[in-house]
Amino acid sequence: AQQRYASIRDKPAETLDGVSISLLMNAGLMADLPSLDDSGAEGVGLFRTELQFLVRNKMPKRSELVALYDRVLDAAHGKRVVFRTLDIGSDKVLPYMKPNDEPNPALGWRAIRVGLDKPGVMRMQLQALLRAANGRPLSVMFPFVAQFEEYRAARAEVDKTIAREERLGHTLPESIEIGAMLETPSLAFAPQKFFDEVGFVSIGGNDLKQFFFAADRENERVRRRYDTLNVSFLSLLEQIVERCDRSGTPLSFCGEDAGRPVEALCLAAIGLRTLSMRPASIGPVKSLLRRTNLGEVRKIIFDARHRGDQSVRPAVMEYLRSIG
Ligand code: PEP
Ligand code: MG
Repeated sequence: AQQRYASIRDKPAETLDGVSISLLMNAGLMADLPSLDDSGAEGVGLFRTELQFLVRNKMPKRSELVALYDRVLDAAHGKRVVFRTLDIGSDKVLPYMKPNDEPNPALGWRAIRVGLDKPGVMRMQLQALLRAANGRPLSVMFPFVAQFEEYRAARAEVDKTIAREERLGHTLPESIEIGAMLETPSLAFAPQKFFDEVGFVSIGGNDLKQFFFAADRENERVRRRYDTLNVSFLSLLEQIVERCDRSGTPLSFCGEDAGRPVEALCLAAIGLRTLSMRPASIGPVKSLLRRTNLGEVRKIIFDARHRGDQSVRPAVMEYLRSIG
């Protein structure tokens, strides 16, 4: 499939009416990195660091993490890599950590909640990231931020770690950007000041959708019941776009839907300008974007909502068939 899209690999993801969309890839293991060149991705929009913790049978040492992140940055040769701090708990349980028995793990002690309550591992990871960057730019984002205070607390951990590294005489990154994943509806309604302060926002559409519709992403019975192109969900996403725009905060979308061409097109139509997806999706998404007029899609979406459609998908599909 990658072969099929080779001819557009080095071409921009630009719509017929001249809107450029930045296409990034999701990764998590060293083995994913060669795809950065093959796919034509502009960078790594989501590096799921927990994967490297999940494939081991004991907690990695800080020195091992430094070596690992250094190799990741080397392999990216200058392209931006957004490292997401450990997203464990819920469906991702480390074999060497005591599992906590929770009735609703998806709503439980996970991700940044663990990181803030038991900061040892998070501090080690932040230190490893700072050391690995060693004079290069560093991008870090925190998963599952549900309220402003959690971002502030995590940010304070980063600042403390930076100060410590400086005292120890380590070279700091050339620049550091700290972002938050927006994966719970609550964060979309945070004070505007959150959007002013945060370095960037990345929408974790998989979790955001599961919590918005109260439909377990792992449960086959309900998983596909609610369409991503449901008008209610699009309204939520649009609100996030507006709030980030108002603060001049960079926004991306990194859930699986970013890699589905029709979904990606609609995300672009409602204002998303950066999408991060599995590498194999970049060709198909770029191909559709390059054949479409975004202004027309925006109009189709507007009309579908005006009519009271539940999802904009049927109307968008009909439009796509009409243009061939
Ligand atoms: C998401 O929730 O959309 C996301 C990108 O993170 P993960 O799939 O790893 O939970
Ligand atoms: Mg998530």
